[in-house]
Amino acid sequence: MAKKQFKAESKRLLDLMINSIYTNKEIFLREIISNASDAIDKLCYLSLTDENVGLSRGDYRIDVIPDKEARTITVRDNGIGMSLEEAEKNLGVIAKSGSLSFKGEMDQSQAGSEDLSIIGQFGVGFYSAFMVSDKVTVLTRKYGEEKGVQWESTGADGYTVTEIDRDTVGTDVIMHIKPDSDEEIYGSYLEIWKLKALIKKYSDYVRWPIMMEVERRESYETGEKNDDGSPKYDYRVVKEEETVNSMIPIWQRSKSEVTDDDCIAWYKERYHDVKDPCALVRINAEGAVSYKAMLFVPGEENGSQFYGETKGGITLYSNGVMIMENCDKLVHDYFEFVKGVVDSPDLSLNISREILQHDRQLRIMGQNVEKRIKGELEKLMREDRPKYEAFYKNFGIHLKCGVCDEYGRYKDFLRDLLIFYTSEDHQLTLKEYAEAMPESQKVIYYASSDSVKHAIALPQCEEVRRRGYEIIYLDTPIDEMVLEALHDQDGKAFCNVVTDDLGFETEEEKKAAEERDIENKELLDFVKESIGDDVAKVRLSRKLASQPCCLTTEGGLTLEMEKYFRRGPSEEMRKVRASRVLELNPEHRAYTALKAAFDGGDTDRAKSLSLILARMAEMLSGAEIEDPTAFVTLVAELF
Ligand code: ADP
Repeated sequence: MAKKQFKAESKRLLDLMINSIYTNKEIFLREIISNASDAIDKLCYLSLTDENVGLSRGDYRIDVIPDKEARTITVRDNGIGMSLEEAEKNLGVIAKSGSLSFKGEMDQSQAGSEDLSIIGQFGVGFYSAFMVSDKVTVLTRKYGEEKGVQWESTGADGYTVTEIDRDTVGTDVIMHIKPDSDEEIYGSYLEIWKLKALIKKYSDYVRWPIMMEVERRESYETGEKNDDGSPKYDYRVVKEEETVNSMIPIWQRSKSEVTDDDCIAWYKERYHDVKDPCALVRINAEGAVSYKAMLFVPGEENGSQFYGETKGGITLYSNGVMIMENCDKLVHDYFEFVKGVVDSPDLSLNISREILQHDRQLRIMGQNVEKRIKGELEKLMREDRPKYEAFYKNFGIHLKCGVCDEYGRYKDFLRDLLIFYTSEDHQLTLKEYAEAMPESQKVIYYASSDSVKHAIALPQCEEVRRRGYEIIYLDTPIDEMVLEALHDQDGKAFCNVVTDDLGFETEEEKKAAEERDIENKELLDFVKESIGDDVAKVRLSRKLASQPCCLTTEGGLTLEMEKYFRRGPSEEMRKVRASRVLELNPEHRAYTALKAAFDGGDTDRAKSLSLILARMAEMLSGAEIEDPTAFVTLVAELF
């Protein structure tokens, strides 16, 4: 029999798949099962108006039958079947309508590029059978026809189609599994456990039962007796039919049928989480894009990643058929901790729709989903602050990174979800902080260190607090960058208490301070010289209250940023140093003592005191001093 050729675009796709550029081979089963399910839908629909169909709802089924000896997997359905013309039309070309746009993108030169991976996610239909098979035989009979059809192909070289006798309506797709190669053990697809796992993973919510014959070991009484007279038992293998899929997805059911508690129980099981999620979002959207969603914000980062299959993220389904796990195209990274499912019939499994359209639908869904997640988090923040704080402790970093990402593009969406410490046990949003600011306060003060405790202890904070202003205490390196990205809150700028002008001085005070700097210049130069290159400058402080000295920086880089860079990946990055300035409190007795030594000509003592002050300032800034022995020696000599 003469072989017929595939249409050009089909041939190209087939080539690509057969040459195994496409990596996710296991989806073939999902594709073939989805076709079977669609065929049953069609016959079931027909039966509503045609009583001759003779099947009731409970009769429809899909069988998956592996045969290790023959090395075949058969997927059988009792759906509508195909006529000879249909077999040729449907299996001889890739889906019709979108194939043109598809053709443009599927140039061989782009193989392995993003286009290909997108196609992989959305399904490639019947042809995917060729990823694991070297021959595919389709036996089918259409409802209402006398004769059946055999369609057969060994791949890109074409196909044959003949009329056959066939008793039953419906379709068998028989996949002749490829021989094992070094790269791929195709034979593993013939294992019952493997097929069951694939059905669970991709086709668990297909509406029709997917049946498999499974083997079970069963003990039975042999009729003989043991020596002690007790009955003798043995094991035998029994074969029985099992419905592998669970059919009805929980998220497809209405709120009146399924309570929030049911959803939470489902979440815990699916994601191996012992803790309740801290937020649940259920969406039933109809309109431009219809979809159902059931999403969870975990209470804690749990260890579910150890279970492999069920890592986090959002799983996309189309009418109960899994399209993509961990879909990172739906929501931005800042919500990557969200787990759950989004199911939309609009995300058709076939490629007959244009691929770009999927992206548009995904975007619309993603935007809505993000708004709902944000709304739910805001609600949590309003109604249960401690719970929100616990959430923030776990996942706040994602939100912070989101603010800094893409030059602050998402900062205003995320702003109100951020909270900041204003004391060791109190956190506020920037909005709350700004609203509570007294009239006299012009800027938002913040202090940064490696912990809230250390930030509170910074000597520069004292004066700000003395004036009755609250300070935001930052404890992670990214925090300063977050404030930089946010730029302001309700028009109020941010002020780093360590490096920025606090804005407290009057004009007269400023002038007096400048004069004092000039008067003390000789001593300050001496201190700088004594310390050496550890600091870029020494000056009198205008900020200190009770402490003798402090360390601050000049230029854009702060001590906290420096710490961040020190952990950086490149040598160059790790070498980055902030420009340090030692500030001395002229009102403090330490300064008086230093000045007395210097003025009295005791330069050795003045030098020791300078070095001690420098080290003390370092300690106050939260840094560890490099040489504690040298420091102790210096101090001990003063006794
Ligand atoms: P699609 O994305 O349209 O399902 P496929 O390549 O998977 O693309 O299948 C092409 C067409 O072949 C289907 O639209 C359907 O008309 C037909 N078909 C495939 N499998 C079956 C089946 N088991 N029963 C009846 N028709 C089928």
